[in-house]
Amino acid sequence: MAAATCSYCSGQAVYLREHEGVSFCSGCFREAVEERFRKTVIKYHMLEFDDHIAVAVSGGKDSLTLLRLLVKLEGRFPRSRLTAVCVDEGIEGYRSEALELAGAACAKLGVKRLVVSYRELFGATTDEIAKMKLGQTPCSYCGVFRRKAINKAAEMVGATKIATGHNLDDEAQTVLLNMMHGDPLRIVRSGPVLKDPRGKFLPRIKPLCDIPEKEIVLYAYLTGIEFQSVACPHGHEALRNDVRSFLNQMELKHPGSKFTLLRSAEKLRASMGRDIQLSELHACVKCGDPTPHELCEACVMLEAVAA
Ligand code: SF4
Ligand code: ZN
Ligand code: ZN
Repeated sequence: MAAATCSYCSGQAVYLREHEGVSFCSGCFREAVEERFRKTVIKYHMLEFDDHIAVAVSGGKDSLTLLRLLVKLEGRFPRSRLTAVCVDEGIEGYRSEALELAGAACAKLGVKRLVVSYRELFGATTDEIAKMKLGQTPCSYCGVFRRKAINKAAEMVGATKIATGHNLDDEAQTVLLNMMHGDPLRIVRSGPVLKDPRGKFLPRIKPLCDIPEKEIVLYAYLTGIEFQSVACPHGHEALRNDVRSFLNQMELKHPGSKFTLLRSAEKLRASMGRDIQLSELHACVKCGDPTPHELCEACVMLEAVAA
């Protein structure tokens, strides 16, 4: 429960940041979130003065908050540019509302946007793939196709970087999931900034990685961001849901657990990062995208979809 007064200005508190033991009024909370976002961008050297950022905007709270914060920051980088890229996966009763909200937010903030769809890029929607019962969950296909679609859209608008709205909770869950999938090296290969030393993929940045999900929800609410809150009908990633509940319980009992997990991953990266061997990349024989194999992951999946 929030303490009665703000620790900074003595106004009425609306939020208690438990792991730091400080309370915030509405204004001080918004400033604190914006300050943390700026510090993350600086700490990880996420932006160059002349970057053209493709912001992956889904219409959810994270991506719309990210867009707003980047627009605010862009004022300090007069030679930089922002373009929103949206992906229509073709999910009835879910994606169209999100795309509308994303469109309205872009119009309000004066940000250009490009919408690409699975239908035009891959010839099938997530709804259609879900009906095919291909063995893996719809999310497995949808996640791989989304990554490819965002890369494609970013290339189409001539971006130099891609920004995504992954928050602290997403990142902490992914660290644990990688351990549970038996792939600890993936923790070392990922992080708040993904730069391919081979230069084959556009760099990806996650400027919200130090902001807990509940703070993003509150920030969106306090700043009047309208976001989609309906869950995707196909989203039943059982293991991630269990990891999410576990981490939320840990956070409740031991405030700061999610941050500690992320800092542990950072230490691993700092000590092991340079020893990681990256596989050589070739052009996928089907689509030309970089891949260590003959076919990229998306093309392998597309073959299953077409079969
Ligand atoms: Fe795609 Fe799964 Fe996300 Fe739905 S929950 S949009 S199917 S990845
Ligand atoms: Zn205050
Ligand atoms: Zn391919």
